[in-house]
This record gives sequence, structure tokens and C-alpha cells, in this order.
Amino acid sequence: MIRSSLIFRYSGAPNSGSRRGVSFALGSRWYSSGKGDKVNPKDKNQGDDESDKSSSDGSEALAAPKNSPHPLVSDFSAPRPTSGLAPMPDGIQLSKPKRKYVPRPEYERVTFEYPRPEHPAETLRETIRQKYTKTSWHRVMPSVLTAVVFGWIFYTGYSVLPHDDPHTELLNKDTFLRYYVTYKQKVDDDHYLIELSRELRSSVVSKVGFRSSMWDGKNLWSVEIAKPDINVTRNYTPLPLYVAGVDPDSGEPHMRMARNELEDGKFILYVKKYGDGEVSKWLTGLNLLAEVQVRGPIIEHEFGFHPLDKFDERPQMSYIPSETPPDPEYPTHVPKPDKYVYYGAGTGIAPILQALYSRNPPKGFVEVYYSLRKESEVPAQIRRFNYFLEKLGRAKFHYIYSSEGKMLMPDDVPKPTLSTFNGYRDLTVAREILKQKLLKEKLKEVQSEKEAGGVKMTTAEKHDIELQINTDVTNTADTEVIKATLPPRVTTEEPLGQESIEQKGSRFGLSNITASISSLLHIAPKLDPNELPENALQQYHIEKRELERRRPAWALVCGPAGYVNYVSGEPHINPEVMEDDAEIGGLLKDKGWDKKHVKRLV
Ligand SMILES: Cc1cc2nc3c(=O)[nH]c(=O)nc-3n(C[C@H](O)[C@H](O)[C@H](O)COP(=O)(O)OP(=O)(O)OC[C@H]3O[C@@H](n4cnc5c(N)ncnc54)[C@H](O)[C@@H]3O)c2cc1C
Repeated sequence: MIRSSLIFRYSGAPNSGSRRGVSFALGSRWYSSGKGDKVNPKDKNQGDDESDKSSSDGSEALAAPKNSPHPLVSDFSAPRPTSGLAPMPDGIQLSKPKRKYVPRPEYERVTFEYPRPEHPAETLRETIRQKYTKTSWHRVMPSVLTAVVFGWIFYTGYSVLPHDDPHTELLNKDTFLRYYVTYKQKVDDDHYLIELSRELRSSVVSKVGFRSSMWDGKNLWSVEIAKPDINVTRNYTPLPLYVAGVDPDSGEPHMRMARNELEDGKFILYVKKYGDGEVSKWLTGLNLLAEVQVRGPIIEHEFGFHPLDKFDERPQMSYIPSETPPDPEYPTHVPKPDKYVYYGAGTGIAPILQALYSRNPPKGFVEVYYSLRKESEVPAQIRRFNYFLEKLGRAKFHYIYSSEGKMLMPDDVPKPTLSTFNGYRDLTVAREILKQKLLKEKLKEVQSEKEAGGVKMTTAEKHDIELQINTDVTNTADTEVIKATLPPRVTTEEPLGQESIEQKGSRFGLSNITASISSLLHIAPKLDPNELPENALQQYHIEKRELERRRPAWALVCGPAGYVNYVSGEPHINPEVMEDDAEIGGLLKDKGWDKKHVKRLV
């Protein structure tokens, strides 16, 4: 680029008569003007002199000649034209600077040819491009669609594929989760105790724990175990027990009840091995730490609602019976818990053991008829726990060994009684009973008054009394109605010693008062009658006779098909509702049991 410094200098002093010209510097080049292209040698010399003086520094060229004032424009004479061009007007005639030719590396030729016609495919492409690049929505739509498609693929893949996240839960009723065999004990030739523990149990337990409904004794439930190589599952009943250690001498396990969430995630199965059974043979043949797929819980039976459910729970049995706290005291006007009778054969005993060993076990008393081949089938620990249950007044076990030629007999089946609570129906009946009772008392009272006066009661008077009683009972609160109609029961609010012996005898239904005295002494030999029981053992001593005397309101049956048929008739599972809709037969029917009060666990 040419530097834009334009430096003028003039030659000759004004009025010197010498030819005057001007030379100027453009950048570093010097150009001159004057008459013709020739410069006066004198001027030239002078110019040379000056040029010499200022050759190295253009700024010096601006300096006016010494001893001379600034020249005027009129001092300059215009050069004569050298061609046919008109002479330059007054002013300075500059010669054009010569430019060096520098070829451009690229040269874009601009043509003005007629463009070729567009190919139809190009036209179509352009039309589509214009159509879909109209709005910003059109531009982003392909990305959005791609994201949606990928999201859908991810979601369906996630829900269809088995995703057994080991950190989320202890049991899942839709998905098989991994458990490991952590203990195995051969009880006899074909019975085993197997402890299963959830994979990464402690980390899962610390996050979720079992759902409270699982071990709370309100349901009887099972789990499904899948045999991996064939597509077969079988149900097994988990017991809320775990192995705390093994006796080094006897090799017997020390079992404990799972008391809180930290002890959840393990359970014991009591399994019978069938020689030709598909799953039981495989399960009982597994080694320690073998993997087992478990799904559940599957609810087999739900104990119905009882008003006592709203009050404090019955404490879980401890493996040391004297450490089991007594039952809480329940208000006297609330119906007492029901009694159950349970018929189990072989491993069919497991469901009731699950409930009795659980946290918040059923509040009622259970009479258990346990049919089995021989004594050795029952693991020693289970037998011990069952004995403790008897001592705590929660159950009574009747072992019936076929090896001893025994079997369940009709005498082992009691007649049923109504539940202490039947919801609304109960209240209606209770009101009716109360009405009849009050009416009878009132009529008797008025009758005797009238008779004393020598008159008879009229029908109209009777009718009035009836109406009055009806209104009174209708306005009585439900709880008062139940309280007034239920027979008096022993409670811890009425400690022994505050009743007369006769009262106690009649309350226990003992006609022979002498017998009642001895039985009462037997019931509570060491307990101070004025003190509340310290534990469940002492409490049972007080209530034992009454619990055992009562008739059961509910019957449960579990065992092999032949046994279930014999006790309660053949079940029929309605495939639509998956419920047993067959009528009750067998021994239970003979004693007057009906479908509403019997549950076959099949
Ligand atoms: C709710 C529930 C809870 C259970 N809880 C337990 C438990 O805690 N412990 C326990 O050990 N079991 C329990 N069972 C039983 C268990 O589910 C299995 O039925 C049992 O282990 C046998 O399964 P398997 O695959 O080994 O034998 P299977 O292959 O089912 O065979 C069992 C026996 O029946 C015979 N058999 C099979 N099919 C027929 C047929 N068509 N006709 C005649 N005979 C046949 C076989 O020869 C064999 O002797 C429970 C069952 C239910 C429904």
C-alpha cells in the first residue's frame, strides 16, 4: 500500500526569475513538474542540493527555503500541455503514479449465460425443503420425534426386560428376586429346614425393610419359588425365623423370631422332599449359598376385622417365654377375641406357625390339630416354640402320629360358635337381645306391682311399655349395647381375690364349687391375686380355663389333598375369582360348620 504522505517542495526563490517548478514526494518517490519535463540544471542542482539535504528525511522537504517567505500559489507557473489535452487550469498538474501490475491469484469469471433448466428431482427437493423449513417447529420436529421414539424404546425395554435391582426391596409379588440358601438342616429323611436370605440383605433392609403387613399375623401368606431350568414354580410358607447360630455340640440351630426390620430379609422354610417332586427335590438338594428365585407375598388368607384391631397389638412371642410381655388390657365393652381351630398335616402346619411366631400375632386362642407320620418330622426348635405358645396361652397343639396308628377323629372336631364380632349384624342382634331382656324385666316389674294392687295389666299398657323400651334401646350407644349383652368375662381389671369363690365357680361354668376351688388354686398357684401379671405366662394362668373352654368360631385346614377332603370336603377353585367356592364337607360339615367360617388353604 502506498503511504499517503504527500510532500511538496518548490524550487527557486520567488522573484528570482529562474524557472520555477515543483517537485513533490509521494511516499518515498519524488516527482517533479515544470516547463517540459526537463528541469533547469540550476534548479536541478539546487533541487539536488535540497534533495540531498532532505533525502533521508521527508520532513525536511517541508521546510521553507532559507531567507525566503512562503510562496504564493500564483508564484507557480502551470506546465505546458504535452499532448492534445487541454492545459491544466491554474493549479498543479500531477503525473499519474505508475502502478505495478500484480496478478490476482484467483479470478472469478462472471458469465451471463442462460442458466440450465432444473432437474425435476432438484425441484422436488427444493419444494420439500421450502415446505419443511418454514417454521422453527418444522425444524425441531425431527429431533423431537427421534427423542420420543428413543424414549419409548427405553421405557418399553425397561418394563419388559427383567430388571432385578437388588437395592430396592425384599420381596416383590410381580418379579422374582435373588435369595441365597444361608442355612440348611436335614430334619429327617424327607424334611428340611432351609433359611433363605435376600441378596445384599443388609443394604436393602436399611432402605426399606419388609412391609409391616407381612409379618404382622394379619395374613397367612406364601412365596413362589422358581426352579430355573424348567418353567415351574411352587408355593412355600416362610416362617419369621432366622438362624442366630449353631450349637457346636448338638449341631442344632439357635433360632430367633424376626422382631424388627433389621432382622427382616431372612426366613425359614419347612420343606418336605418328594422323591419324584419337581421343585422340592431340587430345593432340598441345594448347597449353601446357592441362588434361589423368590416372588411374593401371595396372600392366602386374611384374618377378618375385629374391633380389637384398633387397640394395642399382642406382643410377639419371645424365644424366652418369661420375657414375653402380657397382652395389653382391652376395654371390657369391646368384644373379646375369637378362638380358632386349625387342622394341619405335614408341612401344612407352616401357615399357622407363621401367624403365631409373627409380630402382632392373632389375639385369639388357637387349637391346633397337627397330623403327621412320626415325631421326628418336627424340628426340635419348632416343637419347643410350640410348647412356649402353649405356656403363653396362645395355642394348644394336639400331635396325631400315624406311626402310632392314630388319625384325626370326629371327636377332635368341636361344634362352631358365633364370632364375638360380626359387624353390623352383631349389633342388630345385640339390640334385639337387649330389648327382649329389658322388656321381660319391665313387664315382670309392672306385673308384680299391678298384682299387688289386685289389678291386671292391660294389653294397651303392655304395648306402651314395649314402645318405650324400643325407643330407649334404639337411643343407646352401640358400645353400651354390646357391653350389656356380652356375658361377663375374666379380665385383668378383675384380679383374682375380688370375687367370691362361688362367683368364680359359676363364671367358669363349674357346678362343683369344691372342684372350682382346687382348679383355681391350680390356675394361679404363685401369683398374688391383687397384682397384675408381669408377663404372658402369669397372665395365662389367670385366663387359661376360660380360653380353653370356649368354642371356636373359625376353622382353617391345610395339608395334602386327601387330608383336606377328609376334614373339610373337596375344594373347588373358581377360576374367575380364584376363590374356593365349594361347600364344606367332611368332618367339619358333620359338626355344623359352614363355608363362611371355614378356610381351606390349598
Ligand atoms: C399356599 C401353599 C403353601 C405351601 N407351603 C409349603 C411349605 O411350607 N412347605 C412345603 O414343603 N410345601 C408347601 N407347599 C406345597 C408345595 O407348594 C409343593 O406342592 C410341594 O413341595 C411339592 O412340589 P414338587 O414340585 O416337589 O412336587 P410335585 O412334582 O408337584 O409332586 C408332588 C407329589 O405329588 C405327586 N403328583 C404330582 N402330580 C400328580 C398327579 N397328577 N396325580 C397324582 N400324584 C401326583 C408326585 O408324584 C409327588 O409325590 C405349599 C403349597 C401351597 C399351595
